[in-house]
Amino acid sequence: MALGTASTRTDRARTVRDLLASGKRSYSFEFAAPKTEKGERTLWNAIRRIEAVAPTFVSVTYGAGGTSRDGTVRATERIATDTTLTPVAHLTAVNHSTAELRNIIGQYAGAGIRNMLALRGDPPGDPMGEWVRHPDGIDYAADLVQLIKESGDFCVGVAAFPEMHPRSTDWDADIRHFVDKCRAGADFAITQMFFYPDDYFRLRDRVHAAGCSTPIIPEIMPVTNVRQIERFAQLSNAAFPPELAERILAVKDDPAAVRSIGIEYATDLCARLMAEDVPGLHFITLNHSTATLEIYENLGLHQRS
Ligand code: FAD
Repeated sequence: MALGTASTRTDRARTVRDLLASGKRSYSFEFAAPKTEKGERTLWNAIRRIEAVAPTFVSVTYGAGGTSRDGTVRATERIATDTTLTPVAHLTAVNHSTAELRNIIGQYAGAGIRNMLALRGDPPGDPMGEWVRHPDGIDYAADLVQLIKESGDFCVGVAAFPEMHPRSTDWDADIRHFVDKCRAGADFAITQMFFYPDDYFRLRDRVHAAGCSTPIIPEIMPVTNVRQIERFAQLSNAAFPPELAERILAVKDDPAAVRSIGIEYATDLCARLMAEDVPGLHFITLNHSTATLEIYENLGLHQRS
């Protein structure tokens, strides 16, 4: 797929499913739910800057519990009603009964949202702690895909893991359960962040070999400071490239140099993925748009709207 076939402003009213089916590439940005008023202002500054480049969609992560969940729903609804952006609404099964999940799906639908990301979620506190299902809830993301699909004409995305989900015992089980989500109706997937393009390609090949052609959009997270080296590996279970860590640590007292290496690495990762015909790119912003917009510009994508 050539750069020139990227989406345009008019594509944003459609579902991600329709856009990908038309052969266009999806470009999207992910934000985190704000927890404070200051956080909300930072988020909206970033959203407005991203709006200017007319991405295919944006999304706001769904907090593990408590007030940030209301923040997710509020921010996602506001994106749908007050901006020209298309939101993909995150939803997890953590601590929710099926009735509550139906209610949130209804709230999203009421704001005109048609795209959702169906996630199982992790136990609050310790992501690798024991998973405890809500007594009236569901156990796996595949069940949430089914619930959303039964609730209306929604386009549903799911999570995929280039280095295997940390709870999966082996690749066969991991791929089988991913394919279950697609058979339950998932229209597209977004990966966990990763640093080596081959991890993405191996996942894609394994899914294809299992007879599943659901488009898998790679997620990109640029490293912009030294602390993230450890944090990213913990968050994602992703192998952090030792050669990248070495380059960053060599300039650790120069924040601008650290950032510049992180952006260069992420730009190169995106270029290598695009050369192999990926269906899109999904950028994690951490609610600061500058680094991801720089990568976007490096790739020549800012000229597409
Ligand atoms: P599932 O697909 O249900 O898989 C969970 C585990 O169970 C896997 O090991 C799988 O192989 C296994 N499994 C699945 N089905 C079965 C079965 N029938 N029998 C036995 N085992 C099975 N988390 C949040 O809290 N909020 C967010 O907003 C959020 N956004 C995310 C966005 C992306 C792009 C990604 C990649 C992850 C996101 N996460 C988010 C994290 C996600 O919730 C966790 O990684 C979670 O542990 C897995 O979710 P899942 O939807 O892949 O679960």
